[in-house]
Amino acid sequence: MKSEKKRIGVFVCHCGINIAGVVNVPEVVKRLKETTDAAVVIDHQYCCSDPGQNLIKETIQKEKLDGAVIACCSPTLHENTFRKTAARAGINPYNCEIANIREQCSWVTEDKEKATDKAAKIIKTLIKKVQYDEPLTPISIPVTRKALVIGGGVAGIQAALDIANTGYPVILLEKNPSIGGKMSMLSETFPTLDCSQCILTPKMVEAKQHPNITLMTYSEIDSVSGYIGNFKVKVRQKARYVDWDKCTGCDICVGKCPKKVSDEFNCGLSERKVVYKMFPQSVPNRVVIDAPNCLYIQKGACRLCEKHCPFNAIKWNDKDEIKELEVGAIVLATGYELLDKQRLGPYGFGKLKNVVDGLQFERILSASGPFMGEVKRPSDGKVPERIVFVQCAGSRDPENAMAYCSKICCMYTAKQAILYKHRVHQGEAVVFYIDVRTGGKGFEEFYKRATDEGILYIRGKVSKIFEKGDKVIVWGADTITGKKVEVEADLVVLATAMVPAAEKSFAQLMKLTQDEYGWFTEAHPKLRPVETLAGGFFLAGASQGPKDIPEAVSQASGAASKVIILFASDTLEHAPVIAGVDEDLCSGCGVCIDVCPYKAREIQVKEDGKKKTVKVIEVLCEGCGACSAACPVGAAQQKNFKDKQIEDMVKVGLE
Ligand code: FAD
Ligand code: SF4
Ligand code: SF4
Repeated sequence: MKSEKKRIGVFVCHCGINIAGVVNVPEVVKRLKETTDAAVVIDHQYCCSDPGQNLIKETIQKEKLDGAVIACCSPTLHENTFRKTAARAGINPYNCEIANIREQCSWVTEDKEKATDKAAKIIKTLIKKVQYDEPLTPISIPVTRKALVIGGGVAGIQAALDIANTGYPVILLEKNPSIGGKMSMLSETFPTLDCSQCILTPKMVEAKQHPNITLMTYSEIDSVSGYIGNFKVKVRQKARYVDWDKCTGCDICVGKCPKKVSDEFNCGLSERKVVYKMFPQSVPNRVVIDAPNCLYIQKGACRLCEKHCPFNAIKWNDKDEIKELEVGAIVLATGYELLDKQRLGPYGFGKLKNVVDGLQFERILSASGPFMGEVKRPSDGKVPERIVFVQCAGSRDPENAMAYCSKICCMYTAKQAILYKHRVHQGEAVVFYIDVRTGGKGFEEFYKRATDEGILYIRGKVSKIFEKGDKVIVWGADTITGKKVEVEADLVVLATAMVPAAEKSFAQLMKLTQDEYGWFTEAHPKLRPVETLAGGFFLAGASQGPKDIPEAVSQASGAASKVIILFASDTLEHAPVIAGVDEDLCSGCGVCIDVCPYKAREIQVKEDGKKKTVKVIEVLCEGCGACSAACPVGAAQQKNFKDKQIEDMVKVGLE
């Protein structure tokens, strides 16, 4: 620990009235001058402002200081700002510390005298800390300039294209056999009513043909290790039982396959073959064999696909393959699913054939859907004369399902009702709603169009949906007239809540945090909406929360730009406030290895082969201090947070 005394300057910020409204700043300055050996103590209205930073810089230079304490707001806000100021003044930035007298003092302490005492104490502890701080230099890490985008929906495709267009290689990984995501299932899109496939397919093809993009479909993540700039990812490419180098996507095998199962792409409203292509415009345009349902794989009989394939592409000995990737950044674009049927019991969803969800109705409307674009009921194929649309099915319902607003359902319900009326001119569309939310460009006009086209909106919540003969009865309450309403319908469409596709286990694999509902959490909701707290992971599209297509695409471009910024240099800096090991004290017990959440510590055997000690993988260490607290002999010490330093700070704090 350094023994010569530093010349320390203290700069106390008023933060307007944020601090000075509660803390008596002149009194704090006076006490610090009287009771500490700080070389200078100065206050300023706004230390972070240009004049404030200039004052700090000039004082450091004029007074020949070699340490600084800035008493202001939280270090998460301005530690970087002031460390840069200190560096500009010529001192080591890690000898500049923040004393948080706003979030930890003025904002949480009502009594002005107590707040003033507390502020003075906080600052004194930091003066003590700076006295012991060593000059540190950031660690330089090489960056692998290759990105992995997980999820091949419209957001993932956009992120991959943007990164690839700047010249960096990208792997676009999708768990399904084809990219496209939910947008490929939609009929037309609000508010312009342009055909979803027509605007999406060119992008899918562009991604496939892009020289910098490698598509890995039918693939899932097995493990991720490493850190920003240097991730190692193991990907499981599922067995397709078809050699995609030989397959031309001619579909002859599909025609010959005798076994049919429920078609996921049509949300169970039709059947597909066991050897199948997800949808006609699939990218890659190849087939896979659904092994658990294949007559040959399960029972040893059939092989008709093999017999009829003109290209000898069926590959029975295909196996899952593990591929190892090295990438520098990972974009999460895993999107959403719709709320599980089980959560919507009173609406008969999953039990009544003529109660469908929004995606099922998109497939009913779609020209490539189960009824080739004709609106028909799933139970008997009859054209429905009246459809009831129920908004907020599972959204804004904290008692039974999700408390949040799914944001897009008001608009897609208006779209679906309009499209139904365009196909079935005499048909009646009735919409039950709590509020209609139209916060987007052209959205209010689109909703107005729906009401102008004769769609009946009833303000009220639906309580029960049940079958009576071949009709579906909807019970609700009209909250404007205060009366109960019963509507007899041929078909009911539920605007079910959007829920995150990424499961908890997947987030844990990535070491990413999710909110209480499972949406990935951004680093800051306002200022860092596409970053995560884990360096090198970025968020795109509906993996972060409910979003429509324009929002998903813009966020994807935002995430891509963050990746491009990261790749702009072939090295990046890692903060040096990390843990070390005193090898003379270390017994190699390994307690610290078990507690390190970042896997930054490992056993090393010394050159003589006798002594085992622990070593720190510096780039992985985030300086959390878990090892320092756990080490039984004090060998794990964190730079600029050494035991002696902390003890002295506590002593000053308790004086
Ligand atoms: P997704 O489309 O969900 O794509 C995510 C992709 O990631 C999927 O391909 C998925 O298979 C893949 N994936 C998930 N987990 C993994 C994993 N672990 N590994 C690998 N891959 C994974 N928006 C509009 O703007 N206009 C409309 O008219 C419109 N209509 C809609 C109608 C309905 C009924 C619904 C439900 C939504 C509608 N939307 C509409 C919203 C639109 O679907 C979304 O905005 C868009 O699909 C979001 O794209 P995404 O890429 O973020 O997510
Ligand atoms: Fe055509 Fe053979 Fe591919 Fe089937 S596996 S789509 S038959 S090329
Ligand atoms: Fe309800 Fe509209 Fe929000 Fe969907 S977007 S949850 S329908 S308010």
